[in-house]
Amino acid sequence: MHYQPKIDLLQNRIILVTGASDGIGREAALTYAKYGASVILLGRSEEKLRAVAGEINATYGSLPHWFILDFASAAPEDCHRLAHKLSGLIPRLDGVLHNAGILGDIRPMEEQDPQTWQAVMQVNVNVTFFLTQALLPLLLKSDAGSLVFTSSSVGRQGRAGWGAYAVSKFATEGMMQVLAEEYKQHNLRVNCINPGGTRTAMRASAFPTEDPNKLKTPRDLMPLYLWLMGDDSRRKTGMSFDAQPNRKPGISE
Ligand code: NDP
Repeated sequence: MHYQPKIDLLQNRIILVTGASDGIGREAALTYAKYGASVILLGRSEEKLRAVAGEINATYGSLPHWFILDFASAAPEDCHRLAHKLSGLIPRLDGVLHNAGILGDIRPMEEQDPQTWQAVMQVNVNVTFFLTQALLPLLLKSDAGSLVFTSSSVGRQGRAGWGAYAVSKFATEGMMQVLAEEYKQHNLRVNCINPGGTRTAMRASAFPTEDPNKLKTPRDLMPLYLWLMGDDSRRKTGMSFDAQPNRKPGISE
């Protein structure tokens, strides 16, 4: 995507990023801060979140709020407690990037371990929903809220071996579409991003033999991540965007 936003694109915007400790989420949090947003970081590792918060502070002079929420065990009440804490700290949320996710097992359906299946659904679908429900009141206080989910090419077209992960990403696309319709008359747009194969730990575990140098980095994807959080996408809702529209799904040869 050739998009060159002004450096103050996200000035006065308050944006929460899940899975902000690593990979694409970490890069998105740093990028949103660079473009002027106040960011709120969510993750499960205190050490990693502190490091990202420290980097944002050192580079952009604003220390973000960060919170631990382990999606593997989080219940709706934990998400509501977090939203309550947030409402004491911030007047509204202008954006939420649902980015945290896990891969589960890459193996055929008949060999999918039911416990791992449930763990993938818990992180990628259930807690993403619990958190959305808890954060909606803060998002609806924005005059132009943007709710962004993270999908995958296997969330649009099933692929052998991608089991729970693929099914969870179909669910993510569905959640986005339902919410987009429900909030059509409000100041809230709801969309998905499919990052496409990207140089992160998750990608390396899915394709251990792939040369990571053949992949785009999280930073390369940021134009779309910025566009969806800024005013230029204000009228778009219910859509699923590709951060790498020309990339064919699957391993990079
Ligand atoms: P990473 O594995 O690099 O990062 C995943 C993030 O999710 C990390 O911050 C991780 O935290 C967090 N996370 C994982 N489990 C939990 C949990 N139980 N509770 C809270 N946070 C958790 O993955 P990517 O950056 O590659 O992926 C980001 C998103 O993009 C995912 O939704 C993924 O499905 C999607 N995606 C990625 C593609 C790729 O090629 N990389 C392609 C298509 C989609 P921690 O740092 O503690 O591990």
